[in-house]
Amino acid sequence: MLQAVDLGDHSIQRYVRVVGPDEIAELRELAAPLRGLRLMHVGSTPYGGGVSELLRSVVPLERDLGLAADWRVISGDEPFFKVTKTIHNGLQGEQRGLTPEQMEVYRDRSMSNAQLLGTEFDVIIVHDPHPLAMRHFLGTSGARWIWRCHIDTSEPHLPVWQFLEPYLADYDAAVFTLPQFVPPGFPVKRVEIIPPAIDPLSPKNMPLPQSLRHRILSWIGIDVGQPLVTQVSRFDPWKDPLGVISAYRLARQHMPELQLALVGSMALDDPEGWDIYRQIMAAAESDPLIHVFTNMTGVGNIEVNTFQRQSRVVIQKSIREGFGLVVSEALWKGTPVVAGRAGGIPMQMPEGTEEYLVDSIEDTAERVLHLLTHQNEAKRVGAAGREHVHRHCLLPRLLADELRLVASLV
Ligand code: UDP
Repeated sequence: MLQAVDLGDHSIQRYVRVVGPDEIAELRELAAPLRGLRLMHVGSTPYGGGVSELLRSVVPLERDLGLAADWRVISGDEPFFKVTKTIHNGLQGEQRGLTPEQMEVYRDRSMSNAQLLGTEFDVIIVHDPHPLAMRHFLGTSGARWIWRCHIDTSEPHLPVWQFLEPYLADYDAAVFTLPQFVPPGFPVKRVEIIPPAIDPLSPKNMPLPQSLRHRILSWIGIDVGQPLVTQVSRFDPWKDPLGVISAYRLARQHMPELQLALVGSMALDDPEGWDIYRQIMAAAESDPLIHVFTNMTGVGNIEVNTFQRQSRVVIQKSIREGFGLVVSEALWKGTPVVAGRAGGIPMQMPEGTEEYLVDSIEDTAERVLHLLTHQNEAKRVGAAGREHVHRHCLLPRLLADELRLVASLV
């Protein structure tokens, strides 16, 4: 069998105090006919990145709602994850194709993972392109299959897209974050648009008292008496960490005590991370006010939570972005965000804050500085952001959307 991911027990009842009783009652109604349904999520990494963040909350709650939900990860070696990263980048528009050898690696590992899948499931949700072709290599299947695409596939590099497209033929449905992400001529008839969401009760997002926040940040070398801006992201070129350093340096010309934290996770399925990490370290040039942290050096959910709460501004300077959970995570904490005008980011920014969507390094620096020097405006953006996330980007809404889709397929 594919490797199962260990999960805790979560109770949907606890969310009543965040979203109110009606939304949870509706969720229970949606789940009632699905009691006992065997639902499997297949992903490519148990940690690092938005998909694992989501499934760690979604699957225990689906279980609590009565479904027999499960989360498994495919196995892969370095050549496979290099190929899947090329596919990921190609789907987001990078003009680089796959060699015949790379195509063979993808087919070969997809075939062996398909053999490990087992047959005892009613619905299978396949996340992102890494495990996509398993459906094809499995042949006949009694289950309903959904492909959940988390990335921006609006302008894919055609040779990469044409390689993957035939593997979608047998899917029953596909889910994208935005309508414009559906590639032209997409072969699956049933397409749903469901944006992701954050878990307000997870350690990443739960309230943390200020004294604890100060202790955590001091412990890892941040001066809590001086202003701080942060970007939290996988080390990935699409998140433009080098652009963040350049923007920060421009802003610091007007605020010499300003600190920058770049908090980045390494994911099992992302072999590019270390290269980008080295480029960041070179660009930071041992600057004592630029702090670089990773999940490999002990900066986990509580620390990320602290950075997102304690920063005066959170930056997310993405060039391409599927959704960017980090934007909702920061806004939920009332922290204003300056973010790239890319993919799913604008839908997370509340009305009246479009001016904080940026397209260049200079804009990023100027907008960050504006928020740092206009505290009332920073408060306004943070408060509007929290309200917007409350209404649109919390987990119970996502669960309801997904359960509706599953119910319509079985
Ligand atoms: N994340 C983290 N530690 C890090 C960097 C990122 O826990 O050092 C988390 C972040 O808080 C978010 C997820 O990883 O929950 C990233 O999701 P997002 O949708 O922003 O981007 P993706 O990595 O999926 O492209």
